[in-house]
Amino acid sequence: MVMNEEKLIFEIGSPGRAGYSLPSCEGSPAPESVIPKGYLRAAAPALPEASELDVVRHFTNLSRKNFGVDTNFYPLGSCTMKYNPKVCEEAAKIPGFLKAHPYQPEELSQGLLQIFHETEQYLCEICGMDAFSLQPAAGAHGEFLGLLLISAYFRDRREKRSKVIVPDSSHGTNPSSAHIAGFSVVTIKSNADGEVDLAELEKALDDDTAALMMTNPNTLGLFERKIVEIAEMVHKRGALLYYDGANLNPLLGLARPGDMGFDVIHVNLHKTFATPHGGGGPGSGPVGVKKALEPFLPVPRIRKNDDSYRFDGKLPKSVGRVRSFYGNAGVILRAYAYIRALGAEGLKKVALYSILNANYIKEQLKNDYHLPYDRTCMHEFVFSSAKQLDREVHAVDVAKALIDMGIHPPTIYFPLIVPEAIMIEPTETESKETLDRFIAAMREIAAKAKSDPASLKAAPVTTPVTRLDEVKAAREPNLCYKPC
Ligand SMILES: *Cc1c(COP(=O)(O)O)cnc(C)c1O
Repeated sequence: MVMNEEKLIFEIGSPGRAGYSLPSCEGSPAPESVIPKGYLRAAAPALPEASELDVVRHFTNLSRKNFGVDTNFYPLGSCTMKYNPKVCEEAAKIPGFLKAHPYQPEELSQGLLQIFHETEQYLCEICGMDAFSLQPAAGAHGEFLGLLLISAYFRDRREKRSKVIVPDSSHGTNPSSAHIAGFSVVTIKSNADGEVDLAELEKALDDDTAALMMTNPNTLGLFERKIVEIAEMVHKRGALLYYDGANLNPLLGLARPGDMGFDVIHVNLHKTFATPHGGGGPGSGPVGVKKALEPFLPVPRIRKNDDSYRFDGKLPKSVGRVRSFYGNAGVILRAYAYIRALGAEGLKKVALYSILNANYIKEQLKNDYHLPYDRTCMHEFVFSSAKQLDREVHAVDVAKALIDMGIHPPTIYFPLIVPEAIMIEPTETESKETLDRFIAAMREIAAKAKSDPASLKAAPVTTPVTRLDEVKAAREPNLCYKPC
């Protein structure tokens, strides 16, 4: 069913209609008289011909079909869809930054270089690492760089190590990055508490192990309580510990991966540090290391001498360049503004409220939805639809029903170790009223699963298109405004 039809721009308007009207300009030359023949079109381009008002309405209506954090609640687990303060956008829009060109000489880029340098230092302090590079353009890119650094480290020590261990709860990018960086991937099972199983880890660790990749809190939103022992086990074998810091929200100002024993880390500025994301927009995945890995960081590095900053491209052991210029400047600027605006106390509050909000929802709803790991969570937690399955109501049905209530669905079917997973991350930016509205919506869905499960199967019914075959929609997108 197609509702709220918005025609394509090509189907709006009529021949001769235009978006402007200017008085005709006497004496202006005909295009044929000034443009060489070879560059002239044979026929006029088939452009839309519409009035300014038609065009404004068309795009305004399309924009209103978008769902975003600025319109509604977006508890998409692992993605940290928090509100990004507009002051960060303002900072990135300051003309001197906006118009800076990467080929501008260093003397004329001192402000940006200073901000890059200070952002690296803030990240070192927040994460407990010794050095950072801001080059990677996304989280997965940061993972790839981190693994290249680990390769270079062992090559430099003339050690051959080919294995990377990942827990079965890990984000899918971890095994993928390890594979692409040339390692073989060994997956270990989590224990009944949803944490790394030390016996499994002991079995998998050997002299061929280069690294254990993990995140803490893990993708179940649970803090790995044995992290110090895990770090000792890994280091005793001469291997390194990699931290997937895509979601740093719940640690800010409370705990530091570097203090837990992690040697290499990437951070997603676009999740934790205020850049709108989703839909493939620009991101930033800085990588931090301990001293022993610093010589391998990508060139150029930024150096500070007295009060001036410069790029240093002379690092004999560097893995080379991983991104043009010095990363996504606009994203780094937003992160810098965010860190400066909040300060140490504000960042700590981010962590505390992200944890409080997640636990509040979890406790309010744990009688309505199955909670496979029932303990205090960090910034997110995982339900499943196990209680609704006897009525054939699956995680996807709960997710689609939320759309009709104006709420973005949580992440579903991830992490893979929870069947019918519903992964909820409210973030720290939401008020108690919003959380209560979400709790009420989830309760209503749980009640409907008992009284009228068929209605959940039909959801969503308020959207331009109703339930799609998602695989078919991705593989064979239908871009017509009418079924064709
Ligand atoms: C988002 C995420 C990534 C990947 O980050 P991208 O910027 O999307 O490449 C990696 N690990 C975890 C845990 C994530 O949540």
